[in-house]
Amino acid sequence: MSSFEKLDKTVALVTGASSGIGRATALRLAAEGASVALVARREDRLEKLAQQIQEDGGSALSIKADISSAREAEDAVARTVAEFGRLDTLVNTAGVMLNGPSIEAPLEEWDRMVNVNLRGLMYMTKAALPHLVAAVATSPRKVVDVVNISSVAGRFAAAQVAIYNATKFAVTAATEAWRQEFTKQSVRFSVIEPGATATELFGHKEGQWEGFTAMFGEVEQLHAEDIAEAVSFIVTNPRRVAINEIVVRPTDQS
Ligand code: NDP
Repeated sequence: MSSFEKLDKTVALVTGASSGIGRATALRLAAEGASVALVARREDRLEKLAQQIQEDGGSALSIKADISSAREAEDAVARTVAEFGRLDTLVNTAGVMLNGPSIEAPLEEWDRMVNVNLRGLMYMTKAALPHLVAAVATSPRKVVDVVNISSVAGRFAAAQVAIYNATKFAVTAATEAWRQEFTKQSVRFSVIEPGATATELFGHKEGQWEGFTAMFGEVEQLHAEDIAEAVSFIVTNPRRVAINEIVVRPTDQS
């Protein structure tokens, strides 16, 4: 018998909700019954998505924020709690990928990856934790979740991917450490490590898709919804079930 639980009366915050995996995740969690705070920099996209969720009978709040600013990350969490009254689920999806030869790489690109993929995730998690811990007592599900979107690049390093690898290995490591620290308080930490997924990610810098296909050949990419499905699986499981880590690769990606 399936024991998956609806997310009615819970509140989720999704970073990177303006496109790709974050957008698909926000739609999915809203469909499961959560009120969803949508966080990213492109406000027009967030507002359109919020409208779509509301038209489908859900509840959504658009929050424009650059999560690489600790203050904006803290404000995003504070606005979510002010509007919806609590926070049960944080999905850290926002990320940038700027891979290529290291000598030519502008230092600014490396800084951006560290600032969004690691610092941003760190700021969001730090700001959210007190609210998550507090939400357990009144949670209809008696458990709350942080789901971090790392990458297959958070498990396996590759040439010309050094700093993206470094940020994603860090996300995978921090998630496991936080899992151990908070699991007894009914705060589940999970990490998802996707392989190639058809989003805007490879377009963050020219030549990245060519570099990927040189390594893996032609690949039928995952859909953003495939990763949203993994997020949903994690957060709708009952309290006793903690899914710590999920690797999702395209079948064609060795
Ligand atoms: P997208 O480019 O489609 O989405 C990236 C999201 O991050 C956008 O919503 C963007 O919004 C947001 N973002 C970037 N910078 C900031 C910032 N400073 N503040 C707030 N939001 C920001 O790519 P994906 O959906 O693929 O990426 C989602 C996550 O999945 C990333 O962490 C990525 O590393 C990871 N991943 C993706 C894989 C893939 O093959 N696609 C594979 C493995 C992992 P905006 O620009 O509006 O701020």
